[in-house]
Amino acid sequence: MRKKIAAGNWKMNTTLDEGLKLASEVVHMAKDESLSDTTIIISVPFTHLGSVKKIIGSATNVFIAAQNCHQEVSGAYTGEISATMLQSLGVDCVVLGHSERREYYKETYAELGAKTQIVLAHQMTPIFCCGEKLDTREENAHFNLVKEQLSSSLFQLDAADFVKIIIAYEPVWAIGTGVTASDEQAQEMHHFIRETITEKYGESIAHQIPILYGGSVKPTNAQTLFSCPDVDGGLIGGASLDAQGFIDIARSF
Ligand code: PEP
Repeated sequence: MRKKIAAGNWKMNTTLDEGLKLASEVVHMAKDESLSDTTIIISVPFTHLGSVKKIIGSATNVFIAAQNCHQEVSGAYTGEISATMLQSLGVDCVVLGHSERREYYKETYAELGAKTQIVLAHQMTPIFCCGEKLDTREENAHFNLVKEQLSSSLFQLDAADFVKIIIAYEPVWAIGTGVTASDEQAQEMHHFIRETITEKYGESIAHQIPILYGGSVKPTNAQTLFSCPDVDGGLIGGASLDAQGFIDIARSF
């Protein structure tokens, strides 16, 4: 049985004090018995990682993620953060290939492949984002694009590494727009992703990979999205900045 995952992506929001308050609330609410078998991930700004890690402490169902990392281990890359640094802080997961990073920082398939490998090599879990823009969907090219995003960056991994990844399908037209993919659209793409993985790595691995949906997930739409057979949870942006709303989403399985 695959994990049920609610992953919050705070993006470039919260001061340190605000972030610590939000993290404390999430960790406190996550202690509820009803969430004991739900994996809760909070993806926080780099500046908050060390302090939020301490707040999480010994909680067994809350994990911490970074929102990016550099593909090299170390060196003359002013302003960048390495996987080694993240690992040294006890970071569990790293979000890679978010559409905002692909769009604003022009992250390439090759860079994302290298980032995935370095994150895995440092015993952290990549949360690998994929998804199409609206014009691509309107041209009915969304399946091909998502397949290309996965195969170009991930399919060089051997099966033992690939099986450690979390995938997040995030249609760009649904991110931060208030427009959510319908349950049918989400299930159709998640099923396609699982089939694509099956073709490359076989059914057993495809059935182990958690595939999250991201794009305007809210407490009011999470339950029907999460009830789709191939949707294993959500990557939640805006709604994760409110602890109660985020926990309500985590309770929607
Ligand atoms: C995201 O940033 O990954 C995201 C899905 O944002 P939102 O939930 O705000 O659409």
